[in-house]
Amino acid sequence: MALSGDSGGADTAMQTVLVIGGAGYVGSHCCKQFALAGWRVVTFDNLSTGWRDLVKWGDFIEGDILDLPTLKAAIRATTPDVVAHFVGLTDVAGSMADPASYYRTNVVGSMNVADAMRAGGRDKIVFSSTAATYGAPQVELLTEEHRQEPISPYGSTKLIAERMLLHYETAYGLRSVALRYFNAAGADRDGDTGERHHPETHLIPLAARGLLRDDYVFTIFGEDFDTRDGTAVRDYVHVSDLARAHVAAADYLVAGGISQAINLGSGTGSTVMEIANAIEAVAGRRLQRRIGPRRAGDPAVLVASNQKAKRLLGWSPRPLGLSEIIRTAWRWHSVTDHGWVGPKTPEILQPRLVT
Ligand code: UDP
Repeated sequence: MALSGDSGGADTAMQTVLVIGGAGYVGSHCCKQFALAGWRVVTFDNLSTGWRDLVKWGDFIEGDILDLPTLKAAIRATTPDVVAHFVGLTDVAGSMADPASYYRTNVVGSMNVADAMRAGGRDKIVFSSTAATYGAPQVELLTEEHRQEPISPYGSTKLIAERMLLHYETAYGLRSVALRYFNAAGADRDGDTGERHHPETHLIPLAARGLLRDDYVFTIFGEDFDTRDGTAVRDYVHVSDLARAHVAAADYLVAGGISQAINLGSGTGSTVMEIANAIEAVAGRRLQRRIGPRRAGDPAVLVASNQKAKRLLGWSPRPLGLSEIIRTAWRWHSVTDHGWVGPKTPEILQPRLVT
């Protein structure tokens, strides 16, 4: 199996993490945090939504999780101490329109990852799960014990994968930490990586697009929710903080920890309107916006209790919170990533605004 990259081969004293989906948004930030923590990093990615130029830490293997022989070969070649599995389709509305793709990638793909690990004698996995597994919350702060009744195919596929991993622990000794992300947001503080989806569906990049381009009007999806200003409340957590939690979860598994599901959120919620106002303030210009209908599958409020992450992983998000999320995201979209908003061959736009 050919590895390409900058590590120059394994140092036997180092622990290895195989980052499946390491060329994507959260995955690439995790590669950086693992590298900073002294791990040997290998990214496995099919580059369908990820980016080769964001694979900056360690080696790279191009491959698809639906291709089991290649996945097995990658695990044999790298013998990872821990696998961090980020690959997944993640758009709630997209999952409503095309559930088959979501079940294939998120369920069959995750099963392939677990089976390739079994075949290669690997027994520790950090899995990217989601707050969408809870469905419509019954309480203000969601703890991990909250009933899981997803209201979208996306949430359902991630819940199935979580449960599969628990059964794999009982039967085969494969230990997992399922990290239930709330809203990953922001960009690397040094501008080394950031959010670049195509098509983009997320709030902050789309608000940035509204500020950077005259031909795009930002839409607020619903202002009739039962919230303080009528727009939906989400818990935004800085992607680099999220990435640090993966290193802590890997350490937890290496230390012998049993399988867990752990929320990753800041513990506070912001409305869509508040986010739009905050990015407008950082950019120093008005964001053209309109009100649209609610988006299918969107609950009114999703906010995490992050006490379990604090207790088990010693993790908490850095205190700067939302202001740093907005500042780093705006810098990434307007300067570092050149306001990139196009298809796979980036059209480099000259930034019109610099913070
Ligand atoms: N949202 C919005 N306009 C947009 C994109 C998103 O009003 O152009 C809202 C969306 O309905 C949700 C919140 O912003 O209430 C966060 O959406 P996002 O897609 O970023 O993350 P999700 O919560 O779906 O994981």
